[in-house]
Amino acid sequence: MSLLVIGSVAFDAIDTPFGSTGKIIGGAASYISLATSMLSKNVGLVAVVGEDFDFDFVENLKTRGVDTQGLQVKKGEKSFFWHGKYHMDMNSRDTITTELNVLGDFDPIIPADWKNPEYVMLGNLSPDVQLTTLERIESRPKLVVMDTMNFWMDIALDTLHKVIAKVDVLTINDEEARQLSGEYSLVKAARKIREMGPKYLIIKKGEHGALLFGENEDIFFCPALPLEEVFDPTGAGDTFAGGFIGYLASVGKTDFESMKKAIVYGSAMASYCVEKFGTERLQELTEDMLNERLAKFDRLMRLNA
Ligand code: AMP
Repeated sequence: MSLLVIGSVAFDAIDTPFGSTGKIIGGAASYISLATSMLSKNVGLVAVVGEDFDFDFVENLKTRGVDTQGLQVKKGEKSFFWHGKYHMDMNSRDTITTELNVLGDFDPIIPADWKNPEYVMLGNLSPDVQLTTLERIESRPKLVVMDTMNFWMDIALDTLHKVIAKVDVLTINDEEARQLSGEYSLVKAARKIREMGPKYLIIKKGEHGALLFGENEDIFFCPALPLEEVFDPTGAGDTFAGGFIGYLASVGKTDFESMKKAIVYGSAMASYCVEKFGTERLQELTEDMLNERLAKFDRLMRLNA
């Protein structure tokens, strides 16, 4: 099934207690595209980069079957740049720099081939751009999944609410769920956020897994795989979202039971993402590796042998 991905394609610089990177490939849509392309063979990317971008990465996406016609390259301009620094616990981080550059006035032009996608992943971006993207899609997709972050809650809350009202699934972390709802209890927060529009809400809790809230008080919990070492958590949330929607697009489903399995796929992929800096580990990921980790999740979660 066709899956349209929109989000940042960027340069990142990352500091962790284990070391620092120079400029490396980052961006929500980079992680999402790498993850979705493992599962779904009909993925289209809408994003913008500057002339300074690393175009080997774009070629790499193409060889994975990602249609990059919707990737705009702005002559004489610089790509989005984000610099983050993780604390000792690797769960929390500070943003040192956000340079919007080409993202500052990004007009998401959707190629004709991608105006009627069945699945849409609105990766982390300004809610204005997310909204414009939805307005430019000609028929209602089967499923729209949206990711966002506290940055947009702080500076663009009204528009953010307009997007949230139009999507089927929202993925945010626990802190953001509390900020958006004004509730400390995640159950109360989920109820309030679902009343804002999305039928389903996924609350990500980093190394403590993810919760899926659905209709009729349905809740599903998927743990994160306990890992000996988390090297760099950047992109884990995007990889998770990519695995989640990529799985659903590959089976053509959108029901709660399928979402439970999709969350396990997202979590398995995210568990690889954090093992190396940036997108490096995801680029090495094979189907066998994914299956191995899915089996580990099965053992981790199974109550009876
Ligand atoms: P995550 O670790 O899943 O929250 O995603 C990290 C990625 O989000 C990085 O690769 C950044 O390039 C990207 N990112 C950070 N801030 C923003 C922003 N304000 N808009 C779009 N993308 C962002």
